[in-house]
Amino acid sequence: MEVKKIETEAIIIGGGPAGAGTSLYLTDKGIKHVIIEREQFPRDKVCGDACSGKTAFVLRKLHPEWLQEIYSEEQQFMPSHGITFVAPNGKPLNIPFGPSKVAGETAPGFTATRLVFDNYLFERLPSQYNEIYQEADVKEIIRNESGVKVTFTQGAQTIEVSAPVIVGADGDKSIVRKQLLNDNISDKSKAIGLRAYYEGITGLHEKNFIELHFLKEVLPGYMWIFPLPNGMANVGIGILSERIRDKKINLREKMLYAIENNPNISPRFKNAKLHGKILGWGLPLGAENRPVSGDRFLLTGDAGSLVDPFSGEGIGNALYSGMLAADAIAGALENQQFDAEFLKNAYDKPLYRRLGNELKISLALQKLSRFPWLFNFVVNKAEKSASLSDTISCMFTDLDLRDRLRKPSFYLKILMNK
Ligand SMILES: Cc1cc2nc3c(=O)[nH]c(=O)nc-3n(C[C@H](O)[C@H](O)[C@H](O)COP(=O)(O)OP(=O)(O)OC[C@H]3O[C@@H](n4cnc5c(N)ncnc54)[C@H](O)[C@@H]3O)c2cc1C
Repeated sequence: MEVKKIETEAIIIGGGPAGAGTSLYLTDKGIKHVIIEREQFPRDKVCGDACSGKTAFVLRKLHPEWLQEIYSEEQQFMPSHGITFVAPNGKPLNIPFGPSKVAGETAPGFTATRLVFDNYLFERLPSQYNEIYQEADVKEIIRNESGVKVTFTQGAQTIEVSAPVIVGADGDKSIVRKQLLNDNISDKSKAIGLRAYYEGITGLHEKNFIELHFLKEVLPGYMWIFPLPNGMANVGIGILSERIRDKKINLREKMLYAIENNPNISPRFKNAKLHGKILGWGLPLGAENRPVSGDRFLLTGDAGSLVDPFSGEGIGNALYSGMLAADAIAGALENQQFDAEFLKNAYDKPLYRRLGNELKISLALQKLSRFPWLFNFVVNKAEKSASLSDTISCMFTDLDLRDRLRKPSFYLKILMNK
């Protein structure tokens, strides 16, 4: 069969949140692009399924009506009004989020299975500026001075697409990262997570608070229970890869043990039913100023290793990096410059101006959260102090406040009851 040849302005590998964010913003700028996706949507992705205010921000900036739609689709999307931290000693701390300031948005964030959320975005990608190929198998990526050429197959058809620049939005096992950045993420900056769907867990918060259980045996990781629509919940556990390797931890056993034996958790699962299999996937954790571009390529989302090292949040960062990648591509096309130096200034720098400090603070918090006594101490105090609970609540939106959490003076002040 004849090889189909396409010339375009940008190639995106991967149609998850990072690829969708890039595509939506390229379309907004009228830039032609091709999306090459390995799977057929709707497709599943192992995740906690919690979308934060950053996800809402990127979508709202372009299509505010989509968020209104999301918040009105109660069978598919569940607004989240807060978070419950459970300290290693079992004490819970409920932190309500402030109400959303945007009319029509009932909460600052929401939960939805990735099957639903990613498909919601994917269905909105087609435009006059793109061509989308699903169930596509990338065979070769060639980069030279004149551009990037990707050869892939779709069924019996072979397609060759050429462009001046390529975006790696192909997730944790990114082939674009591997081939063009020549850098694999080390165990130190990776975590592994498991996810299961349960129906009928009791004791969920009436306002759908997401729950983080900082079990002593998985610190600095945690177990989570995130309510979903239709009586379902996403239950999972995440922990640093180096810890799994060093302590020879069986994550599945740890999670099932907690579900069966933890006095705060197991009674709530008495009549709960597991739906489907317990599945695992990697979380490539972000660190300030790690390269996310080079000659003729940009890495977004998990391909760029941009997951928050404390919370495990990656959907918002994937969408956000996609938005900035589109800006950088617009600048590169305008200047006809696609070299590493140009893309670093156009993409890495703005990205880390927004995310760098957040990643740094989260890494420090991840290190602090190795200490169960510190958790117990803060939660015990916050339970008795409305002002401390308020401060912690504001930390989710206020980066300066969150920064205080990593400073010894914060804990000293609590100790002194100030
Ligand atoms: C257990 C677990 C829990 C998590 N919980 C949360 C959470 O609650 N909230 C949150 O915000 N984040 C969470 N994350 C992180 C989040 O899932 C990721 O950060 C997010 O999916 C990144 O989006 P992405 O578009 O970069 O990658 P992905 O969502 O992985 O999308 C990549 C896409 O690329 C496609 N692809 C891959 N390889 C190729 C190829 N060779 N050719 C073509 N296409 C390809 C894939 O099919 C996929 O569609 C969690 C992660 C894990 C593992």
